[in-house]
Amino acid sequence: MKIPVIDLGECVDCEACLELCPKVFRKNDAGYIEAIELGEYPEEELQEIIKNCPGQCITWEEI
Ligand code: SF4
Repeated sequence: MKIPVIDLGECVDCEACLELCPKVFRKNDAGYIEAIELGEYPEEELQEIIKNCPGQCITWEEI
């Protein structure tokens, strides 16, 4: 299964991912973007966000 992973060191906190896909991304209590644990992710939608993330910091990880 593939999950989206965020490299917080590169994240510019633009919140585009939150706006485009709030069912996958959220801001945690510490103020950092994180991917919500889901059984399955909308792959096409995420691919679009990955392409447009200004920090280029969202990638897929095989688990
Ligand atoms: S779109 Fe990318 S840079 Fe912007 S908040 Fe999300 S992970 Fe960070």
